[in-house]
Amino acid sequence: KLYNLVQDLKGNIRVYCRVRPLLPGQLNRSNTFDHIDDGKITFVTPSKYGKEGRKSFSFNKVFGPFSTQEEVFSDTQPLIRSVLDGYNVCIFAYGQTGSGKTYTMTGPNEITEESQGVNYRALSDLFHLSELRKDTIHYGISVQMLEIYNEQVRDLLAVDEIRNSSQNGINVPEANLVPVSSTSDVIYLMNLGHKNRAVGSTAMNDRSSRSHSCLTVHVHGKDLTSGSLLRGCMHLVDLAGSERVDKSEVTGDRLKEAQHINKSLSALGDVIASLAQRNSHVPYRNSKLTQLLQDSLGGQAKTLMFVHISPEYEALGETLSTLKFAERVS
Ligand code: ADP
Ligand code: MG
Repeated sequence: KLYNLVQDLKGNIRVYCRVRPLLPGQLNRSNTFDHIDDGKITFVTPSKYGKEGRKSFSFNKVFGPFSTQEEVFSDTQPLIRSVLDGYNVCIFAYGQTGSGKTYTMTGPNEITEESQGVNYRALSDLFHLSELRKDTIHYGISVQMLEIYNEQVRDLLAVDEIRNSSQNGINVPEANLVPVSSTSDVIYLMNLGHKNRAVGSTAMNDRSSRSHSCLTVHVHGKDLTSGSLLRGCMHLVDLAGSERVDKSEVTGDRLKEAQHINKSLSALGDVIASLAQRNSHVPYRNSKLTQLLQDSLGGQAKTLMFVHISPEYEALGETLSTLKFAERVS
């Protein structure tokens, strides 16, 4: 019995790796990875990074540069659907700036139906499924969008357009929680949130890569025969860029930002690693991010971490440190 329990806990954390393709300006370059084979990715490491040779890393799944948004989503779908059964779910996008986190979660700058990321697909799948179940369970779905910047939480939906239609938030009661009933509602809100997030950024100072953004989907359901109630919650988190900054080169605000990011990403790593190792003490209190997500990390909750890799040679140092993070949490 204990053995099953242990298996369940382990089964609740999954780590997927996604490698983005070389971008249009980089097509004359070569990839740092040698091959991908189901759950394994093998890199050719030059002597600068230790012994020259091949190094392999294993994941629950590896998505190569030609994987589609649809393929990535279909592997995530069962997890997402469990929210409607009352589970709490966290999906994270981790990686250095430019590695494809936002592409996976949201999509490219100009989003087409085909290039929609996990966020949109997840919501439209939840609507679809709740509609199919409507004769047995009545569902209500609402969303919240938060940003964590320098350990401070900001409500991205704190705008006049929606204030009247919202309820009180979940973990951040003062944040707006907005009922939604269709994908177009969600698209509208996500656009508002993104616009709001851009405030304070300039071209040279892209704040979005130095803050975490979290789309939370709250589901409550009522079984029409038994009258019993269920609640589920899903957090879709586009994390701040994981790159290390050179302390000798940045000062002031940039240094402070870097230290906050570093602290919260390692706090997240510590939490997931201690859950994976089934430690009795889980250090949730060490960052705003882990505090915010506490009731959706551990216990019966399910966690999926997408670890993103940039394939070009210049990124290899960061790639190896990203892979080290991934090894810790899996
Ligand atoms: P991040 O959010 O990690 O900083 P982005 O998602 O913004 O990175 O990706 C950087 C660039 O690479 C963007 O122009 C994005 O459209 C592109 N890109 C990322 N992943 C892919 C992919 N799988 N396929 C095609 N283009 C991608
Ligand atoms: Mg991004």
